Amino acid sequence: MLNYTECLRRLIGDVVGRVPALGHIDESRLLVFARLGRTGADGSIATCHCLTLPESEPGYYFWQDVETGRVLRRSVWFVAKTPAVIIGGQPVPYMLSFALPRFCDQRLASSPRKRVLYAGAQDWIAKLDTIVHELYHVDPSGTGLRMMNGGCRYHSAAFLDGVAQLVRAYMVSKPDPAVYDFLRYDFNELVARYGTVVGTTFRTSHPQRYLEVLPNQPAEPELDVVPLNVAPRRTQYTDADLALRRFSVIGCRRVPSSAASRAA
Ligand SMILES: [Zn+2]
Repeated sequence: MLNYTECLRRLIGDVVGRVPALGHIDESRLLVFARLGRTGADGSIATCHCLTLPESEPGYYFWQDVETGRVLRRSVWFVAKTPAVIIGGQPVPYMLSFALPRFCDQRLASSPRKRVLYAGAQDWIAKLDTIVHELYHVDPSGTGLRMMNGGCRYHSAAFLDGVAQLVRAYMVSKPDPAVYDFLRYDFNELVARYGTVVGTTFRTSHPQRYLEVLPNQPAEPELDVVPLNVAPRRTQYTDADLALRRFSVIGCRRVPSSAASRAA
C-alpha cells in the first residue's frame, strides 16, 4: 500500500528545507490532501488553498441593462469568509490539494510549456514542477496567494520561470532519490508496484470560501433585491473531517479504519 499524500508531504518537507526561496513555508502547518480527478478529464491537477484571507468588504451582485448600463436589480449584501481548518489543535494557514489519479499521470510531453522549460529532462519532472508551483503560491507574508500577475488567474511568465528555477535549485541540492522516487511512476505503474494507492481526503467537500448574508442590510436606493441562493457552509473543519481513501482509475472509496491505521 502506498500513501500518496504522505509521500507528497515528505517530499514537500524536503523541498522547503533545501530551497531557501521556499523557506518561509512551515510544512508542519501545511495540510496536503487528495481529491478525485480522473486522467483525461477537465479540471486542475493541484491547487494551493489559502485559509488566512480576511473577511471581504461587504458587497452585492448586480444586474445591468445591456444598452443603458442602468442597474436593474441587485442581490442582498454579503461578505465572503474563509472557513477555519484546525488540525492537531493548530490552525492551518494553507492547504495543497492534488487530483488523483490525474496528478500521477502528468508528463512533460503533454505540456508544451514544461517541455521547453525542462528540455531533455525525465517525464516525472512535470510533477515536481506542479508541486513547486503550488508551494510558490504560498505568500511569504502568510496571507493570500502569490500570483505575480496582478491577481489574474493566468500565471505570468516570470512566475512560471521562477518555479522552474526552484525546481532546478532543488535537484542541484542532490536530494535523496528515495524521497522523490514515487514521482517516477504513473498511476497504473504505482498500482502494479504497490497494489493499493491511498491518500488523505476530506470526508465531505473540502473547505472553501463561502458567502454570508449581512444580518443588517444597508439602506439602498429603490431596486429589486434578489435573495442569495447560498447553501449553509461549514465554518470550521478538524482532524475528524479527514479520512483515508483508496484511489483507482475510476474513483475512490473510504479505507476501513483498521486498514487505515496499518497504512499510516
Ligand atoms: Zn498556479
